[in-house]
Amino acid sequence: MTLRLYDTMAREKRVFEPQDPARVTLYVCGPTVYNYAHIGNARPPVVFDTLRRLLGHIYGPDAVVYARNITDVEDKIIARSNETGESIADITKKYADIYNADMASLGVRAPDIEPWATQHIDGMIKIGESLERKGYAYVTKDGLYFQVDQMDDYGKLSGRKQDDNEAGARVAVDEGKRSPADFAIWKFAKEGEPDEAIWDSPWGRGRPGWHIECSAMIKAELGDTIDIHGGGIDLTFPHHENEIAQSECAHGETLANYWMHNGFLDMEGEKMSKSLGNVKLVHDLVKDWPGEVLRYALLSGHYRAPLDWTRGLLEQSKTSLDRIYGALRRVWGEGEVKPDDRHGVREKLMDDLNTPLALAELHALASEANKAADEKNEAAMLAVRNMLVDAGEALGLLSMTPTEWEHGGDADETARIDALVQARLDARKNKDWAEADRIRDTLKAEGIEIMDGAGGSTWRRV
Ligand code: AMP
Ligand code: ZN
Repeated sequence: MTLRLYDTMAREKRVFEPQDPARVTLYVCGPTVYNYAHIGNARPPVVFDTLRRLLGHIYGPDAVVYARNITDVEDKIIARSNETGESIADITKKYADIYNADMASLGVRAPDIEPWATQHIDGMIKIGESLERKGYAYVTKDGLYFQVDQMDDYGKLSGRKQDDNEAGARVAVDEGKRSPADFAIWKFAKEGEPDEAIWDSPWGRGRPGWHIECSAMIKAELGDTIDIHGGGIDLTFPHHENEIAQSECAHGETLANYWMHNGFLDMEGEKMSKSLGNVKLVHDLVKDWPGEVLRYALLSGHYRAPLDWTRGLLEQSKTSLDRIYGALRRVWGEGEVKPDDRHGVREKLMDDLNTPLALAELHALASEANKAADEKNEAAMLAVRNMLVDAGEALGLLSMTPTEWEHGGDADETARIDALVQARLDARKNKDWAEADRIRDTLKAEGIEIMDGAGGSTWRRV
């Protein structure tokens, strides 16, 4: 089996060949942490988590080095700090924690490395100095700028050289900028900006531009040339184009051998935007749906295609997982699970992460499980169970036991209800019937039915 990936730079699928199979490097642009992530923001982490799982299977989990950064200095963070009076450190810590917790509930494993931009200011300055020395950068009254027309192949990733708005409309060219397309490597501090967002530099006090952050973090954590660089399609221009410009002009090496970009997620056929009031936060969605349902929905379309997020999609995803967990329940049995990779899910993923076909394979396995259970074929039941668990792992699904899934798929919630069921049993033991009834009624009001049996009490959602 060969892994083929669509490379935005080559504009075609290419066979994936890492520089060193013992150290496969993947970098994905991470969040700017000043508010909650919406479900569109979750698409890159889920897609690249799936890729990382696949690379881990092919090259060995220890051979893959996955870095996803935290952007903790940026105009919007400063604005937020000015608005709320909270320190930048508090804001970024708070929202980075929330981000990681929300992503974890979607089955996204923590990256191997999570660099924070403010820990890499020195590296950013070094790249800026190198660019200046080589004649790619110049200082204006606003900061240090990259001179785009100094780089012959600027624009090679996106096919664009400048922002259409800037090029077309008569947006005033920054007084000192030599061309509207030139972009800031370093921005001088302005009146009233917080000390927390100001560093010394050879050009003057200020802060890095957004693009230089990734260039420096990639170099420091992974090296001059990485195997795969990923992000949302909107990042191709200007962000990735500018990362390429800075890194390649400073180091004289190719920044990334493969560029991967996920398509955008729309909300019920419309662009998700604050002004339309249709932004759905992961933080809220996970209150209403098991994380695996959200992940299933995100993987139901091919990562490069746009994905239309609808209530129907969520309901279908829930039904699909109910069916698959139902099949898993029938073959669950006793005995240790030994994941078995003799199934077709990864083969579909090997073709540029074809998750819709991979999910179809998962359904086919569920059908096999049902057949084995119908036939009471114990050996086949065991085999298909082990394949189902492994296939689920490839996709970041089926991480629960069938019982956990039936309990609602939320470990904290399950623990809470288990504790209440136990408290009711204790109350009964103490002949505190009123308390026992009270707990039963409380759970009933939440749609949870307690079933008393010889071996104790169990519960289910009705
Ligand atoms: P931002 O917070 O806008 O910088 O976005 C963080 C990440 O989420 C980037 O990789 C974006 O490409 C990605 N992203 C933002 N909005 C969407 C969307 N609607 N669909 C898919 N990806 C998105
Ligand atoms: Zn980046």
